[in-house]
This record gives sequence, C-alpha cells and structure tokens, in this order.
Amino acid sequence: MRDVIIIGSGCAGNTAAIYTARAGLKPLVISGHEPGGQLSLTTEVENFPGFPEGIMGPQLVENMKQQAARFGAEYVTGKVEEADLSRRPFRLKVDEEWHECRTLIVASGASARWLGLPNEQRLIGHGVSSCATCDGFFYRDKKIMVIGGGDSAMEEANFLTRFGSEVTLVHRRDEFRASKIMLERCKANPKIKWLTSTIPVDIFDASKNSVEAVRLKNVKTGEEWTQEVDGFFLAIGHVPNTQPFVGQLDLDTDGFIVSHGGARTNIAGVFHAGDVEDRTYRQAITASGAGCKAAIEAERFLEAEGH
Ligand code: NAP
Repeated sequence: MRDVIIIGSGCAGNTAAIYTARAGLKPLVISGHEPGGQLSLTTEVENFPGFPEGIMGPQLVENMKQQAARFGAEYVTGKVEEADLSRRPFRLKVDEEWHECRTLIVASGASARWLGLPNEQRLIGHGVSSCATCDGFFYRDKKIMVIGGGDSAMEEANFLTRFGSEVTLVHRRDEFRASKIMLERCKANPKIKWLTSTIPVDIFDASKNSVEAVRLKNVKTGEEWTQEVDGFFLAIGHVPNTQPFVGQLDLDTDGFIVSHGGARTNIAGVFHAGDVEDRTYRQAITASGAGCKAAIEAERFLEAEGH
C-alpha cells in the first residue's frame, strides 16, 4: 500500500510528486490518458518563471517528471477506470489492477473541449490552440480566429487583440452565453470582427503543418466559404477528468471538484490539485502551486496519523 497516489502527470501532479517524494513518501503517479497534461499540447512556454529564454511545454513537464523520479517518485501509465473512496485505504483500478493508498491527490486536470474537425488534432501546437494566454504571443500581427460564445471566448478574443492584426470571433448561435460585461467589452473593441450562426467545418493546411485557412459555414443559410487565418483558438469549454469520482467527491454541476478549503475535498485524505478544481486561473504555474499545496497537506495528514 502506498502512502500517496497522485492521479495525473501535468504540472499539478508532477509538482505534488516532487514534494511528496522529497518528503520520503515514495508517491506513485498514475499518468492518465493525457500524460504531461495540457503542457504536452502546447509549444513554447514563456511565462513559467525561471526560464528567461522560454521552454517547450513538453520539455518543461518532462523535466518535472525527472525531478520527481530523482527523489523516488514512480510512474505508471494508464487511466483510472474506477475508484473506491468509500473507505481507507482508497482503491483505484488502473488497467485491471487495483492500487491502494492512504492518501490520494487528484490532479487529473480538465481537458480542453475540441470541435472534432478533420484536421484539428494534427494542427494542435501548429496554429490550433486551446489557450490564448499560452500561445497568443506567437500571433503578433497575424490573423486570429476564436471559437466560442462564453466568457472564455470573450476573454481570449479581447486578450488576443493585443497581438493579432485582427481577431474574428466565431459563434454557433446569435445569442451569447457570456456575461454582459464581458460581451460588451468585446463589442467595444474595434479589432474584433463577429461571425455568428457560424461554425468551422475544417482547418487547412495539415500537409504544411500550419494553419493557413478555415472553412466556415453559416448554419442558417448553409453558405460555406474559406477565410485566411494564422491562429485558431478554441474557447468552447473544458471537461474536468472526474468521471471515476462521480457520487464520491463533491463536484459542481460541470464536474469540477468543489474545494473544502486549501487542497481538501469532502473526503478526508483526498486532496485536489490543479485544473480539476480550478476554473479560473488554469495556468502551469498555478497548477504547480496547487500541487505543492496538496503535497504538503497530504504529508501533514499522514504525519498526524502517525505514518
Ligand atoms: P462555457 O460558458 O461553457 O461556454 C462555452 C461556449 O462554447 C458556449 O458559447 C458554447 O456555445 C460553445 N460551444 C460548446 N461546444 C461547442 C461546439 N461543439 N461547437 C461550437 N461551439 C461550442 O465555457 P467557458 O467560456 O470556458 O466558461 C466556463 C466557466 O468559466 C463559465 O462559468 C464562465 O463564466 C467562467 N469564466 C469566467 C471568466 C471571467 O469571469 N473572467 C472567464 C472565463 C470563464 P453555446 O452557447 O451555443 O452552448
């Protein structure tokens, strides 16, 4: 039985692994279905402190993993299919094998929702992005498109006008889900162009490994056309990876973990870290900070129990 199991190998999980490993707790990290988390989907990271020249996202997360492994963290690949948190030790099923632990850190993240367009996945990191804060800087004086009609889309469109020559916001309806204030701020921004009742149908050019144009369709008239675009940003929501915990951990209506203060969940000994709980900041550095908090809480929890 493990003192600590950490679910997720993004910034939150790896940082929790570094801290718990250095505390001598020999954590087991279950790397999840997106090993490395959101950073493994991005290219250059320029806002993680300590890297004045920037660092590639996958490299940053690999460095964290090596750092944790150096202190004794172990990693297993695989996804948690089932969890039993009803009694201790907690039990987790990964690839038909059950693992047991005294404390659990859930750092399983939230996956960006994608549209499912034919060339979308191939162009992630090559013009297709789900994070304006991460990638906006690379689109200075370029043509940018943002998809979505919620607060994230408004926030990202507004933010991206700092970089792009123009930002086109594409939304599938005429009505916006975004809050009035965020929508009005965008409406007042002359650099934002609006395409409502419009959906993207494909992105080109996957053969050149870069985004050059998007095929769009007006859902009311059926009209289709192609528009030149350099950066394609999705802001259509995130899906938290909490399926195995439904009915056990307190989750909000969208499935994100509800914090019970600090890194605590409703179950003593189960802690949260990173995007699986954080709907607001969702940055590599905040996820790392959350992983550190969860590790410290797990360590203190075990110490109080005399382990
Ligand atoms: P959201 O509110 O769920 O909005 C998602 C948007 O994407 C909706 O407009 C939705 O269209 C669209 N969408 C979803 N699936 C789509 C698809 N397959 N094709 C095309 N469009 C699709 O998500 P969010 O904007 O990420 O916000 C999540 C939460 O965080 C919200 O509670 C939000 O208020 C909050 N948030 C707050 C701030 C802030 O206050 N600063 C900033 C960001 C987020 P429909 O409208 O047609 O469903």
